[in-house]
Amino acid sequence: MIMSNELTAPLQRFDRLGDTLGIELLVQRDDLLPFPLAGNKVRKIDAELRALSTLPDLLITNGGINSNHCRTLAFFATRLSIDCHLVLHGSAEEASSSPALTLLQQLGVQFTVVSPGEIRATIEHLVERAMSSGMSVHVVPGGAHSPAGSKAYAEVGQEVIDEAAPDFVFLASGTGATHGGIAAAAARSVVPTRVIGISVARSHARGLQAVAEAATWAGARHCEIEFDDNFLAGGYGRSDSPTHEAVALGWKHGLPLDTTYTGKAFAGLVDYAHRGALAGSRVLFWHTGGLWNFLSALGSSRPYASEWHLSQEVDGS
Ligand SMILES: *Cc1c(COP(=O)(O)O)cnc(C)c1O
Repeated sequence: MIMSNELTAPLQRFDRLGDTLGIELLVQRDDLLPFPLAGNKVRKIDAELRALSTLPDLLITNGGINSNHCRTLAFFATRLSIDCHLVLHGSAEEASSSPALTLLQQLGVQFTVVSPGEIRATIEHLVERAMSSGMSVHVVPGGAHSPAGSKAYAEVGQEVIDEAAPDFVFLASGTGATHGGIAAAAARSVVPTRVIGISVARSHARGLQAVAEAATWAGARHCEIEFDDNFLAGGYGRSDSPTHEAVALGWKHGLPLDTTYTGKAFAGLVDYAHRGALAGSRVLFWHTGGLWNFLSALGSSRPYASEWHLSQEVDGS
């Protein structure tokens, strides 16, 4: 919960990038919401905390070591001076080398790294321990996947769609609360807008249902969900050459993208454009964040190292 006027992010035109794709391109920059590089989890967590009658002494949640949700909750807790304990899962290798854990240490929050099978028991133990010492506790659902987050996206979705009047909205779709909220907003809008969620992890069968449920949370009754799983690139956290090409194209036009989330969504947009499905349309790309993912990847596998050395040589610097 931060001051509501801080929850605005710019809506920007990207004319040159749009021209290369034969579309009018607008970008909703939720990567610029008021915590560094955090993205859509800021709106979701803010809504989740606002829905509480009072703030607790301790916030607990779970996610992967490199989870945007967990680090955003850590930023909120630190800013609000609330204790925070994160239950993280990941490999020992990730735990020993991840810049994500260094960041959490820097923020001063507590975290425990466990195997996926131990998450539930660990959370129960932490809740019991806090309550027996008289603390109030709130457990935030993993990914902040909750009705509050979905409603927050329906509200901002309505404002942005009214202002931008796009023919299409593209975004990265994970647990589905963001996509469901924006789809609910589009269904209510007088502007006819197709909202296309590009899946970053789930197959169509599994993902569609979660997005449809989130749209219902946001108040939609008959809402057509478009959930495209053709750009998964092998699953969550993996990437392929269309993802890398989309990421490179974005950066070259001043639009920072990552390979886990926004790069896949943008690869989807590029593919629709190349197939002529968007010719002459006004397209809104909803940037959901993900820059921490990009930076962590640079720290480990350096996917752009060869290009970088090449341009250094060319520049002679
Ligand atoms: C979590 C996340 C998403 C997916 O949001 P959902 O509401 O879970 O679908 C997309 N992009 C980024 C950068 C994220 O961190």
